[in-house]
Amino acid sequence: MAHLTKSTGTDPDGKAGWRARAACLQFDSALFFPDRVTYLKKDVGTAKAICFRCPVREECLQTALDSGERVGIWGGLTPVERANLHRRQRRVRAQETSTEDR
Ligand code: SF4
Repeated sequence: MAHLTKSTGTDPDGKAGWRARAACLQFDSALFFPDRVTYLKKDVGTAKAICFRCPVREECLQTALDSGERVGIWGGLTPVERANLHRRQRRVRAQETSTEDR
């Protein structure tokens, strides 16, 4: 699972990458992967506050968007927020493509 590689600070291929600079390495990964029962706003808010100060937030968020990650807080966004962002990005790309075709 992705959070295991994130917690080791290495990319899946074992090389140190952006994950090595992740702010969440200093915290319990459970904070970023709350289960459905304990998915409290307070917990999500704490994780988001850490993410918004993280130097690799953009890389983290893009990785989650590219891989369709469906669990956990990545780049400061919940799975629902990432799905909404992904939909918006797809809509913008589709509009850009249709504009280019004219
Ligand atoms: S943005 Fe959040 S989840 Fe992603 S690496 Fe940074 S602290 Fe971790």
